[in-house]
Amino acid sequence: MSSALANASANATLPDAHGHFGQFGGRYVPETLMHPLLELEQEYFRSQHDPAFQQELAYYLREFCGRPTPLYYAERLTKELGGAKIYLKREDLLHTGAHKINNAIGQILLAKRMGKTRIIAETGAGQHGVATATVSAMFGLQCVIYMGAVDCERQALNVYRMKMLGAEVVSVKAGQQTLKEAVNEAMRDWVTNVRSTHYILGTAYGAHPYPVMVRNFQRVIGDEARRQILEQEERLPDLLIACVGGGSNAIGLFYPFLGDPTVKMVGVEAGGLGIQPEQHAARFQGGSLGVLQGTRSYILQDAHGQIQLTHSVSAGLDYAAVGPEHAWLRDQGRVDYTYATDDQALAAFVKLARLEGIIPALESSHAVAEVIARAPRMSPDQLVIVNLSGRGDKDVAQAARKLGLQLPE
Ligand SMILES: *Cc1c(COP(=O)(O)O)cnc(C)c1O
Repeated sequence: MSSALANASANATLPDAHGHFGQFGGRYVPETLMHPLLELEQEYFRSQHDPAFQQELAYYLREFCGRPTPLYYAERLTKELGGAKIYLKREDLLHTGAHKINNAIGQILLAKRMGKTRIIAETGAGQHGVATATVSAMFGLQCVIYMGAVDCERQALNVYRMKMLGAEVVSVKAGQQTLKEAVNEAMRDWVTNVRSTHYILGTAYGAHPYPVMVRNFQRVIGDEARRQILEQEERLPDLLIACVGGGSNAIGLFYPFLGDPTVKMVGVEAGGLGIQPEQHAARFQGGSLGVLQGTRSYILQDAHGQIQLTHSVSAGLDYAAVGPEHAWLRDQGRVDYTYATDDQALAAFVKLARLEGIIPALESSHAVAEVIARAPRMSPDQLVIVNLSGRGDKDVAQAARKLGLQLPE
């Protein structure tokens, strides 16, 4: 076994007790946040081993969120591309329209156990905000969502959804007015209100225990996909593809396959307008090691450590840092990372809609773009699973503008 593969199976035991994935991860926070993070860590690891908690979580995932999601054979896309057989993991069919609810439901159950009465969250595309507002409404907890002013505008539908669900939405006008600034505001709120408040972080990022906890709440995607492909094809897939923002849908799909050396994996970042500074959000193209918002990972920063501006057509991938476990998997050579540009994602968005009757989220469209590029170079007896992390309802107005579609007279 090559050392990369030996290391990849060792990953089953990572992170270490301090949240490190090799040189990545950890807990870089002000003293005031140490107490709530330790409290959360304790409650999380206790609950993880508590059958009552697991049963409650399984109940809500099934009855409220709509799990399991199908692993759907994309027959027309497969035929059009003329190569590998393509399956879509349909996280777009979950309640609220994306994988974010898997994690939101897990964390709100923890919040209840810790006796918290108030929930805060940050959101980029608005999908995590909607998921958090939804579970807060369901359990009757007060909810405040921080969202960059630019994101509020490009994801207006999701702002209305959150308000409809009774959440307060705070439009953050600092800096670039996107996700990074929203996270800063949420952390500021948490410092001030730690006693009453739980912060539901939306991706596999941030200070320990968030990256490992969010991964474990999202691994249900890969656990199901593994079972489903074995049922449907009686063998493991050759390739997994997922888009990577903070990295939660991708690690959720990848994690249960990490010990299977024949399963290749590729994470797709946002290539935006192309790989020039400030035109993209592909941290593995031009990013470097640094600390941002509680953890150590690959970050888009300049020579002075100033965080660079980022760009993507999809708000959910538009972030300057990537989850620490992905940084580790990339260093180990276990997972490949590439990017799709805005134009490639938009073309994939339209292609999946026309060929399969499925409108994917613009985030997920980055993964679809990669399968469009790769499948034709693979043989028809190979299997690919693409994670369809969310549905594109929230994106149709933006896509229509980009594509120049007109309303009928
Ligand atoms: C938030 C979001 C993403 C990106 O977040 P990850 O944590 O990288 O999964 C991808 N797809 C959709 C639909 C999202 O809402």
